[in-house]
Amino acid sequence: MQYLPIHFDTRGAKILVVGGGPAAEAKLRTLLKTEANIIVVDTSVGPEVARWAEHGKLEWIKRDYKDSDLEGASLVYAATEDDAINAVIAEAASARQIPVNAADQKEACRFITPALVDRAPVLVSIGTEGTSPALARALKADLETKLPPETGEFALKTKQLRDKVKVIMPDLADRQRFWARIFGGKDLSAMLRVPRETLEAEVEAELAGRDESAGKVILVGAGPGNPDMLTTAARRALHAADVIVYDRLVSDGVLELGRREAEYVYVGKTPGEPSIGQTAINEILVEKAREGLAVVRLKSGDPLIFGRADEEIDALQAVDIPVEIIPGITSAAAAAAAINASLTTRGTNKAISFLTGHDAKGFAEQDWVSLARPGGRAAVYMGVGAARFIQGRLMLHGAESDRPVTVVENASRPNQIITYTTLRNLPEDLVAAGIKGPAILLIGYAERRSLTEKRLAV
Ligand code: SAH
Repeated sequence: MQYLPIHFDTRGAKILVVGGGPAAEAKLRTLLKTEANIIVVDTSVGPEVARWAEHGKLEWIKRDYKDSDLEGASLVYAATEDDAINAVIAEAASARQIPVNAADQKEACRFITPALVDRAPVLVSIGTEGTSPALARALKADLETKLPPETGEFALKTKQLRDKVKVIMPDLADRQRFWARIFGGKDLSAMLRVPRETLEAEVEAELAGRDESAGKVILVGAGPGNPDMLTTAARRALHAADVIVYDRLVSDGVLELGRREAEYVYVGKTPGEPSIGQTAINEILVEKAREGLAVVRLKSGDPLIFGRADEEIDALQAVDIPVEIIPGITSAAAAAAAINASLTTRGTNKAISFLTGHDAKGFAEQDWVSLARPGGRAAVYMGVGAARFIQGRLMLHGAESDRPVTVVENASRPNQIITYTTLRNLPEDLVAAGIKGPAILLIGYAERRSLTEKRLAV
């Protein structure tokens, strides 16, 4: 981030705009909304600027620019219609350490002005660091339709309620949690339109039951990685969490949905490396919940599939800490979606097994006899390292060597890789494809024509 977005307090500040033509006018439209004293220097100005001067909205000094105009200015806009003059002004301002914006000359600018969605006092500023003004405008247009005119009014309403909540809850962290619960996971555009009484009632209700959600643990399914595949409940829980205890396979995009102020505790286990034990994880959960905090235990996929959820639930229940579970999209489901395969197919398989390649003892033994039967289908988790073992066991029990196997690595993520192979070639093809990341082996699932691809007429 080269540019730091900040909201600058304009009360009593002098803002100098050099120029009175179209470039200056565009800047002035925003500047006039502020509380700054605005000085425009130019020999002539456009009709709009002249009108603003007449109405006392700005002061127009009718002459050419001089360096002494910079004195006392907090911000300077070099916005004449002449690039060379703007560059000179920018240099003079920079030499005096006054932040300056030079029209159409990014290199000469100490600050640039963002595209603005104005629902004062709510302001959304959009910047692309000069990379794509068109994208900024498109985003602005999109947000303009999303944020109703009542947005600013809504913020003012909450301001009054905040004062009230502050009296009842002197602790800042308590209040942050409180408001996270009020806003968390709601359909914001609908919420922004609620009448004042409804919002008040909601705040009152939340105040009345304010201890309810303190001190509990929610096991949340983070899904396969793509944040679009999170449930609304998971989003809400993340937003309201004080502590987020997360695993290795939880993606950054999902973690981003937690509050900045929340505490993040990484408890990932890397295969083959020393890592935190399950007992230590249980202890963290108990300890944090006992502090009265809202704890989210974030696990990849669905928390109840190969997630050691029982151990955590037991540890919490043993000391009477409430536990809640929010399911997630398990990686086998995401992998099947990635290859347009139905996990169950009428006439082919009446069941599908979710297997782990490893268990506490090493490679995991399974009911190979039934898996090896024709039509046997399975989704194997943690199976990359066990691929040769699984291949050997299945073939030993009579599975056809040309049974299709599809491997989906990083399902749903931008780096998703799909490898189609057969039982015979599975271990070699995994190595050839360089698969190391989290992957699901879909045994008995073949390549399928893309759902969107049209069949070619022959
Ligand atoms: N609870 C998780 C599974 C945890 S075990 C779930 O429901 O998905 C970890 C294994 O999950 C990995 O070894 C891998 O087999 C699988 N996995 C997790 N994320 C994955 C992803 N994005 N793509 C493919 N497999 C994934």
